[in-house]
Amino acid sequence: MTMHVVGGGVAGLAAAVALADAGRVVVLHEAAPVAGGRCRALPDGTDNGTHALLGANAAALGFLDRIGARAGWVEPEPDGLPVLDLRDHRAFRVALSPFGWVDRALRPPGLAGGALLALARLAIPGRDRAVGAAMAAHPEFHRGFVDPLVIAALNTPSEEASANRLGAVLRRLGGRGATRLFVARDGLGPGLVAPALAALQAAGGTVRFGARLRRLVTQGGRVQALDFGEDAMALGPRDAVVLATPPWESQRLLPHLDVPAAHAPIVNLHYAHPTPGPVRFIGMLDALCQWVLVRPTGVAVTVSAGDAAAREEAETLGPRAWAELREAALAFGVAGDWPAQAPPCRVVKERRATPRHAPGPPLRPKRLPLANLALAGDWTDPVLPATIEASVRSGQAAAKALLR
Ligand SMILES: Cc1cc2nc3c(=O)[nH]c(=O)nc-3n(C[C@H](O)[C@H](O)[C@H](O)COP(=O)(O)OP(=O)(O)OC[C@H]3O[C@@H](n4cnc5c(N)ncnc54)[C@H](O)[C@@H]3O)c2cc1C
Repeated sequence: MTMHVVGGGVAGLAAAVALADAGRVVVLHEAAPVAGGRCRALPDGTDNGTHALLGANAAALGFLDRIGARAGWVEPEPDGLPVLDLRDHRAFRVALSPFGWVDRALRPPGLAGGALLALARLAIPGRDRAVGAAMAAHPEFHRGFVDPLVIAALNTPSEEASANRLGAVLRRLGGRGATRLFVARDGLGPGLVAPALAALQAAGGTVRFGARLRRLVTQGGRVQALDFGEDAMALGPRDAVVLATPPWESQRLLPHLDVPAAHAPIVNLHYAHPTPGPVRFIGMLDALCQWVLVRPTGVAVTVSAGDAAAREEAETLGPRAWAELREAALAFGVAGDWPAQAPPCRVVKERRATPRHAPGPPLRPKRLPLANLALAGDWTDPVLPATIEASVRSGQAAAKALLR
């Protein structure tokens, strides 16, 4: 009985490890020469983009525990998130959790009773609408807290982002430690992908790189064979498949599938600028830079829902973002040199980073569209936006569905 997992992103890795842990023979087929998908290390060791996890991401953190990678994820700003607002050049700290707002020094801009109530209302599922419209009466709180949260969590501009999807995130932020923010100290390669592959192989799994599934051969509601072009694999009566490919690829392989049609880009700028440490994470308002991650190996800037940034040339993006982040680094006393001249910068534009999460019910695709095929992938989570947490949950749910 062999379990074929197609796609070695986070969802596929989580499914493969869960199936191997259950004692199944597992083969992971990945089209690219490396695993990780949209959460991968590039050949030079930098990440495709900064990835952060919150304490509320129980499935993702549990997966890191399982693969022995948890110690590589550090909490850069335990005393509140540093934020530089370029509108008035004010530097302050914000608690991500409303419980932290008891301390006046950690309150977000524009916080008032009415704004808090509007935020609480967002957490209650109801008639869906755009977050921007729901927060229209509280522009300052929206600008200083809700909008950056929406862009980070939903990768969708507030004016088109689903209030119900944001609500699903907010409901998870209530628990103790839920808003602690973690990043991979040494990057996604050593912090996630390599340990996941090692754990899979230690549990008996096999990985095939450069193995792009061309076609699913189906008959009678079952997958009969996997066609990889040069080689095809016939499935035995008890063999099964986890399809953990991105939505557009899952639809190519299963044309009747309903998948998200619109995606949003995330742009990351990686500066070759080593710093002495420790790891720092700074938010920016009214800026091109949304988040600045400072690690000993270099400095990275994230621009989510980055439609405009994705259209801009690297030659102008690099110096523009450096001028902003340099001001933030100096304002918060980040260790290291911060010259006026921008260091060499690599720009990574992930054009289909995640689906856009517009108002309306999520797709909720069937976990088992065929008797021996389960779907996984960030886009298949019925509740959460497309994130590492959704990917891990989906992979584990797909494994569970097949094991049942
Ligand atoms: C720049 C960026 C920043 C992000 N930041 C965050 C963050 O801070 N926090 C967070 O939680 N999430 C973040 N995300 C979202 C997160 O990366 C994704 O939700 C997650 O990685 C998706 O994983 P997945 O396994 O569902 O899909 P994918 O990562 O797309 O994996 C699919 C895999 O399938 C492979 N594949 C495709 N077609 C085939 C085929 N025919 N045969 C075999 N293999 C195939 C692909 O090569 C890929 O490896 C970010 C995403 C990006 C792009």
